Amino acid sequence: MKTEYDNQQHKTDRNAAIRMLQAQDKALEELYRRADAVRQQFMGNEVFIRGIVEFSNVCARNCYYCGIRAANERVKRYTMSADEIVEVVRHFPANRQGTVVLQSGEASAAFGDEALGKLIRRIKRKTTVAVTVCIGNRSREVYQYWRDCGMDRYLIRFETSDPDLYARLHPDSSLATRLDCLTILRDLGVQTGSGFMIGVPGETVEILANNILLCRKLDLDMIGIGPFIPHPDTPLGNTPNAYAADPEMFLKALAVLRLFNPDAHIPATTAYDAIFPGTGRDLALQRGANVFMPNATPNRYRNNYLLYPGKPCVDESADQCGACMIHRIQALGRTLGQGPGHSKKRAIEKIP
Ligand code: SAH
Repeated sequence: MKTEYDNQQHKTDRNAAIRMLQAQDKALEELYRRADAVRQQFMGNEVFIRGIVEFSNVCARNCYYCGIRAANERVKRYTMSADEIVEVVRHFPANRQGTVVLQSGEASAAFGDEALGKLIRRIKRKTTVAVTVCIGNRSREVYQYWRDCGMDRYLIRFETSDPDLYARLHPDSSLATRLDCLTILRDLGVQTGSGFMIGVPGETVEILANNILLCRKLDLDMIGIGPFIPHPDTPLGNTPNAYAADPEMFLKALAVLRLFNPDAHIPATTAYDAIFPGTGRDLALQRGANVFMPNATPNRYRNNYLLYPGKPCVDESADQCGACMIHRIQALGRTLGQGPGHSKKRAIEKIP
């Protein structure tokens, strides 16, 4: 299939990305050194902290990789009340968390769009934290309503830049629709984040390089990536990660992502700790990442929000995660971010 990628500049950049993704030994050390230096130059020494509240695991979709897909009957479904969520977020500023990320399953009526708008308004009225939402595809009208309620940012990963592979992973959505959502959010002046999983079955290193270049093309404010981890209760439960034999690829991908996106916020995502227990997120922070996203979901719900197995910190409380995270950041010689950590790309006052 001929795509927009078939131009010479893209091919040159993609080949450069592929070469970096194949780096070994001295070249690998150099890649990591450069990624860390670029992060330092463009994003500084601060690590911004965004607490995630996984407020509902109810989902109407059936993404073939995801543990909370609608068809997984082994999941005990829950939805937090607005009061419970606000109570969690009230403690954020004292724990140096300048942003809340509200994440849930998708297209569920469990927490309605209007209820979410009212919740955003309440959080913005009662606290100083920035509000990021991550709950999937919606219409322009709904995104606009949430923006008018005070939503600062939206995260919506494109998961893979290959339309055919996207279709094979998602029975009820298309890559084009997902990308349309990003365009609408950008038009509305919402700070936009996207990203992808690394090593979904069928991914090649060319696709991985295209994923990284698509992030640059979309000019994203935030980019979250993380390894695909097979969940046993999903159709891909027995299909290993494409780089299962070479987990270093997950860190290489992060470093190359930083080099192609010098001034985007890049989190050290939780899935890195699932692959490299106890150290994954620290390694990510040393190879290009500048954001940490501790789990702020109340303890009693955490075990029911397993997108993939081996998710860390499911037995900890939010306070324990906060303390552990501050220690981890300081042990790396980094400082804690001040304030909400808005996009570096667009001065916030210019956003309509
Ligand atoms: N329903 C929301 C939130 C999705 S969960 C939405 O559609 O945007 C957040 C992210 O978890 C997903 O975008 C996906 O990239 C990641 N994820 C889901 N299942 C995973 C798995 N098995 N391994 C690794 N990451 C996974």
